[in-house]
Amino acid sequence: MTYHVNEKGYYGEFGGAYIPEMLYPNVEKLRQNYLKITAEPEFQKEFDELLKDYVGRPTPLYYAKNLSEKYKAKIYLKREDLCHTGAHKINNTIGQILLAKRLGKTRIIAETGAGQHGVATATVCALMGLQCIVYMGEVDIKRQAPNVARMKMLGAEVRPALSGSRTLKDATNEAIRDWINNPVDTYYIIGSVVGPHPYPDMVARFQSVISSEIKMQLLEKEGKESPDYVIACVGGGSNAAGAYYHFLDDADVKIIAVEAAGLGVHSGESAATSALGKIGIIHGSKTLLMQTDDGQITEPYSISAGLDYPGVGPMHAHLFASKRAQFISITDEDAMNAGLALSKMEGIIPAIESAHAFAALDVMKFNEEEVVVVNLSGRGDKDLQTYIDYFKL
Ligand SMILES: *Cc1c(COP(=O)(O)O)cnc(C)c1O
Repeated sequence: MTYHVNEKGYYGEFGGAYIPEMLYPNVEKLRQNYLKITAEPEFQKEFDELLKDYVGRPTPLYYAKNLSEKYKAKIYLKREDLCHTGAHKINNTIGQILLAKRLGKTRIIAETGAGQHGVATATVCALMGLQCIVYMGEVDIKRQAPNVARMKMLGAEVRPALSGSRTLKDATNEAIRDWINNPVDTYYIIGSVVGPHPYPDMVARFQSVISSEIKMQLLEKEGKESPDYVIACVGGGSNAAGAYYHFLDDADVKIIAVEAAGLGVHSGESAATSALGKIGIIHGSKTLLMQTDDGQITEPYSISAGLDYPGVGPMHAHLFASKRAQFISITDEDAMNAGLALSKMEGIIPAIESAHAFAALDVMKFNEEEVVVVNLSGRGDKDLQTYIDYFKL
C-alpha cells in the first residue's frame, strides 16, 4: 500500500480532476509534462539553487531544549518560518514558476485568502519578470491590507472577487474563470495541495524538500533518519504534505495532522474538515468537504486565515480515511496560548497556523526518548495585530 498518488490521480478514493471541459487542455498539458520537466537536470539545478540562495534553504531543524524538558521528549522544530517571505509557501511558487516558464507561459494568475500565497506568487513573478494577477476576496482585501500592499510593491495586480462570501473560495472561482478565458498564455499557480490532479501531487513534490531535509538533519543529530512523530497544521495541507512526504510509507513514523477547531468543533464556527466534512467536490478535486445536507459549501472559520478553508487536499482526506494519520483539532484559544508559550519559552513567535501544530503537544503523550518534529510553517509577524488584540498587549 502506498499513500502517494496513483497514475490516475487518486489517493484512495480521493483526488481526480473534476473540471469543466474548457479547462481540460490546460490541465492535461500540465499532467503530461510536470513529471518530465521537473525531472530534467537543468530544472532541478535551477530549483535547488533558488531554494538555497533565494529562499535560504536548508531551513534549520532546531532542537528545542526548553520544550523538550517540558514535554519529556526530544522536540525538534523545522524552521520553515525562516524561509524568504516568512513561510513554506515559496517552495511551491518557485517550483511552479520554473515549470510555467518551461511551458512557455507569460502571464501568471493565483488565488489568495490571507495573502500569503499571493505574496509568494508576486515575489517569484518579480524575480522572473512575469505578469502577475492575484485574485482575492473583497472581504479579505480589507482584512489583509499589509499583504495587499506587499503584492502591489512587488508589481502584482490584485483583483477583488466580488461574488459569494467574497473570501478564498470565491477568489479561487475567479482564478479558474480567468484560466478558462486565457488558456494559451496563462499559468495558474495554486497555493496548496488542492485542485485537480496533477496539482496536489505537484505541490506535494515541491514541498517535499521539507521532509528530505528533516531526514538528513535527523541522521546528523540523532543517528537515524526517521522521527517517531511528525506534526503539522493542515489548511489545504501543503506544509503538512511536505513534512510527511518521505515518511508516508514508513509505518514507524506516526503522522499527526492538526486542524483548526475555531470556537469549537461543534460550535458552527470551525474549520475542522476531517471531523465535520463529507465527501464532495471542491475546486476540481474529490475530497472531504464541509457542506450542508444539500451539498452547499459551509463557510469555515478560524482565527488563523491560513487554516480557514472548507476542505483538505485529497492526500489528507486519504490519510484520514485510511487512519494513516491521526487528526487532532485545536481551538483558537489553545492555538493563541500555544503561540504565546512558544514565544516565551523558545524566543520564536510563530504564525497562528503553526501555533495550532505546536498546541498539539499539549494533548499528546510521549515516551522519554521519542523524537518529535513539529513543522513550524511560518513566522508570526503577519499575525502581530491579532496577537495584540487577543492578549491586549
Ligand atoms: C498558508 C499557510 C498555512 C496553511 O496552508 P497549508 O497548505 O495547509 O500548508 C499554514 N501555515 C502558514 C504559515 C501559512 O502561511
